[in-house]
Amino acid sequence: MDNQGVLAVISGFSGSGKGTVMRALLEKYDNYALSVSATTRSPREGEIDGRDYFFRTREEFERMIDEKELLEYAQYVGNYYGTPKDYVMSNLQAGKDVLLEIEIQGALKIRESFPDAVLIFIAPPGAAELRRRLVGRNTESPETIEARLRRAEEEAQQMDEYDYLLINDNVDCCVKELHNLIQSMHMRMKNHLSFAEKIKEEMKQI
Ligand code: 5GP
Repeated sequence: MDNQGVLAVISGFSGSGKGTVMRALLEKYDNYALSVSATTRSPREGEIDGRDYFFRTREEFERMIDEKELLEYAQYVGNYYGTPKDYVMSNLQAGKDVLLEIEIQGALKIRESFPDAVLIFIAPPGAAELRRRLVGRNTESPETIEARLRRAEEEAQQMDEYDYLLINDNVDCCVKELHNLIQSMHMRMKNHLSFAEKIKEEMKQI
């Protein structure tokens, strides 16, 4: 069996609760490695450099682009966000299932370079609930909330590019579904080709 980890790309509208789902997934299971992205956005209260994001200036971020240190990057509501390459590659090789929590342009770029990656979209039960969650978490100005909702409207048009859709109306259920889904990727036939060849040969002798 191929011991390479699964690369799982998880996207969802700002406020869909995907951050909570990801945290619960990491707490519950130990086979996952969550990639920490670089961003030019300012830290929110309580966010820590190196844990939540690598907070960088635009100059530093552009240097990372030039040095080809990022697997993908995109602009989102006025800021750069990108995935550092080394962490992802080394963890996949070590057999960890690597999680990228990124927006849709980045997700589609990852699919181009990693055709085996699985793209999962996490949606809230409805649009009104999304607005309620975004306003309720109290981390953004009203203008930023509106910009994020407009961006969510655009992203909704492209949701069907994803392989799977999970509805997050109950965090525990969503975490279990996400885990089962990612684990099922290990069972894909293409990960078992050498075993399949062995069985084929054995069956000739039966
Ligand atoms: P936030 O500012 O709410 O933390 O993130 C804004 C958006 O950027 C979210 O949709 C998040 O998934 C996305 N994002 C975070 N890191 C990355 C990244 O490395 N690359 C891309 N393309 N998007 C990212």
